[in-house]
Amino acid sequence: MSSVLKKTATDARAERTLRTELFERYGCGPVQFSGNPNASYERHLVLDHVVKPGNASAREVFEALARSLRDLIAQRWLKTGETCDRENPKQVYYLSMEFLIGRSTSNNLLNLLVEPFVREEMARRGVDLDRLDDEEPDAGLGNGGLGRLAACFIDSMATLAIPAIGYGLRYEYGIFRQEIQGGRQVERPDNWLRRPDPWEVDRPAEAVDVRLQCAVQSRRGTPVLVADRPTLLRGVPYDRPVVGHGGRTVNTLRLWGAAATDAFDFAEFSAGDFFGAVHEKVVAENLTRVLYPDDSTTAGRGLRFAQEYFLVCCSLADIVRRFRARGNDWGALPDKVAVQLNDTHPALAVAELMRILLDGAGLGWDESWDLTVRTLAYTNHTLLPEALETWPVRRFELVAPRLLEIVYEINRRFLDEVRAKSPGDDGLAARVSLIEEGPEKKVRMAHLAVVGSYSTNGVAALHSRLLRETVLKDLAGLFPGRFNNKTNGVTPRRWLLLANPGLAALLTKAVGDGWVTELERLGAIAPLADDPAFRERFRAAKRAAKVRFADWLRSATGEVVEPASLFDVQIKRIHEYKRQLLNVLHVLVLYNRLRENPALDAPPRTVFFAGKAAPACHLAKVIIHLVNNVAAVIDADPAARGRLKVLFLPEYNVTLAQRLIPAADLSEQISTAGYEASGTSNMKFMMNGALTVGTRDGATIEMAEASGEQNFFLFGLTAEQVANSRGWYSPFWHVEHDPETRLALDLIRSGTFDLGEPGVFAPVLDALLAQGDRYMHLADLTSYVNAQEQVVALYGQPDAWARKAILNVAHSGRFSSDRTIAEYAADVCGAGPCPVD
Ligand SMILES: *Cc1c(COP(=O)(O)O)cnc(C)c1O
Repeated sequence: MSSVLKKTATDARAERTLRTELFERYGCGPVQFSGNPNASYERHLVLDHVVKPGNASAREVFEALARSLRDLIAQRWLKTGETCDRENPKQVYYLSMEFLIGRSTSNNLLNLLVEPFVREEMARRGVDLDRLDDEEPDAGLGNGGLGRLAACFIDSMATLAIPAIGYGLRYEYGIFRQEIQGGRQVERPDNWLRRPDPWEVDRPAEAVDVRLQCAVQSRRGTPVLVADRPTLLRGVPYDRPVVGHGGRTVNTLRLWGAAATDAFDFAEFSAGDFFGAVHEKVVAENLTRVLYPDDSTTAGRGLRFAQEYFLVCCSLADIVRRFRARGNDWGALPDKVAVQLNDTHPALAVAELMRILLDGAGLGWDESWDLTVRTLAYTNHTLLPEALETWPVRRFELVAPRLLEIVYEINRRFLDEVRAKSPGDDGLAARVSLIEEGPEKKVRMAHLAVVGSYSTNGVAALHSRLLRETVLKDLAGLFPGRFNNKTNGVTPRRWLLLANPGLAALLTKAVGDGWVTELERLGAIAPLADDPAFRERFRAAKRAAKVRFADWLRSATGEVVEPASLFDVQIKRIHEYKRQLLNVLHVLVLYNRLRENPALDAPPRTVFFAGKAAPACHLAKVIIHLVNNVAAVIDADPAARGRLKVLFLPEYNVTLAQRLIPAADLSEQISTAGYEASGTSNMKFMMNGALTVGTRDGATIEMAEASGEQNFFLFGLTAEQVANSRGWYSPFWHVEHDPETRLALDLIRSGTFDLGEPGVFAPVLDALLAQGDRYMHLADLTSYVNAQEQVVALYGQPDAWARKAILNVAHSGRFSSDRTIAEYAADVCGAGPCPVD
């Protein structure tokens, strides 16, 4: 941006003050502001890479710049830790198997407030900051919403100065890279650490040892667990700074990497099997090699249980060590430590904390239990029965028999209480038991989490209610006080300020920059929805964002899209319940209409899809294939040219979301009501001035409430209607009675999209018809098509459209993750800010 170069005198004064202030805050200046060869950026080039600044590659320039930014952070990072050690505040620990953080450099630049200065300094050296971005791979350490939520939460906690540490695993391979070949998804390994990551600091001195009852060995190339071979694994922390906005608090994201201990190979070595010992050491280190790529299912996960155990053991050991080092007595644990479990993946923490208190601290059962329950809290993320975790008792015996003993004892005491409270109700005891009986006994991880913690929250009002009324009904009856709601949010730093600089600048001009940390302030733009001049500026910002995206798309992929067309966007994991198929059916309805009536009056529309399918989920992969083939057929048809275009963008990740969301006119949030726990992309779109076509599901309900339902395109069955019509719903009724539905399905059946592979899309027709259409696509299609007609009608009135879009932005304040975190802090964990001076 050239704005830094064209400064007024007051701007220049303000900038000098800010520079001085930041210099004091960080103890040094960004790239030292000088061109001095000893300055930090050049030093990193010369001393780390041994390259002359003029000869450095883009990657070397990126690494040196990132390291020089880390230099800025270092003092604050240390100071944050020292402040916590000194003040001994209640500390929040966020345990999550996933952190979908995306890129760090641009986000840290922004939160440190040094972006304009660094841009100017780098421009002076002939380096364009924006071009460096692409040198950084996305840290894709998550599948989707759950992992992204964890990333937004640690950002908000740092910004709110809440002393917090995020704990996760350092997967060497994150979520797979998606390529499309012949219309199909192909998974490629994501080797994101191939080159050293300048943002991580390994801390071998703080490694912890984890005891497994089994060994990790390799059988025909796949790692397997071998019983009764007790093993010590080492968890090595890799820390990443989490910079609060303004750079005052720098919290830590601590990711554990598995390593073999030295003792590990020694025994084998003395037995003479040198090669075997080294091989086993390598295999043991496989534990944190790869993130399991399944979203919402529990199948096929050989090492996953051991990964969860590893995360929990490493993190609790670290938490307890820090707690004791600050001189606290065991009895103070719930006053000084709040552990939030992101879904049941870290629910073993209940048993492991008990083990530490019983076996390590030597406390009695009752005291240990009281401390454990008052320290842990649990967030539920799904109502899908196939996604509720259970682990065979056999796995526990294999990996951690002591934790199984503890789970059994927790369950024995719990069921005694249940029976004492409701004598004779054996059904209740069986339903709430931590153990699922059957041919294979399993531990119900959600029950373990609810029984072993003081708080269970859902992630949107509807989801929390359904949790209480359906899947966890009996437990909610036993512990009514534990259940609560915390509607999700997203960080406005990454999702508005960073992703959409044009709109961000317009908002700042209108209401000042306070919205960056207090998003509710955007409420002040509501009156401007009726100001024609503001509407025009708002529309210009959207147009610019669309052009920017179209330009990037052309240069990155060669695809050409028309910025004047309606950008209709559905980007999220591909899953049956999210109903990408409903969107496809609507596209087919539009396509049929265009073929029927070439003179049809409809605005040109570009329908974007992006998302990854779980590699083991056949139907989801067929849906991707269908979208690609529909796109190809429509592209080749003159009847649709310039009027309807479908595009599947491969490799959906955080960076792609940051690019596309600002450009969207229409946000598709069309899950079957009752199935999307909250959704968070819905919130990102709302902040960026898209209108939403959506079902009454997840947080979309609350978004429509906040902005007024007249500013939303809501359609379809409610969660109650979905549940109540389960018994009698038949998709065939709709085939018979809705002509456009029939025509759309006929188009698929006709083989129009098969492109030489007859029957490839039979699984889609099967799911929608023969198998009963579990997610009720056909029930909602007509009302969806009607809602889309209202979309088109409004799009034809640009002023009226802009007015509603502005009102949506104005009322998006509630959906900042700062609000969610403030609610957690106040109602759940009782932790407050601990400002770093
Ligand atoms: C926000 C986000 C998600 C979550 O999207 P939903 O539509 O809420 O499921 C998933 N993946 C990425 C990369 C995201 O940025």
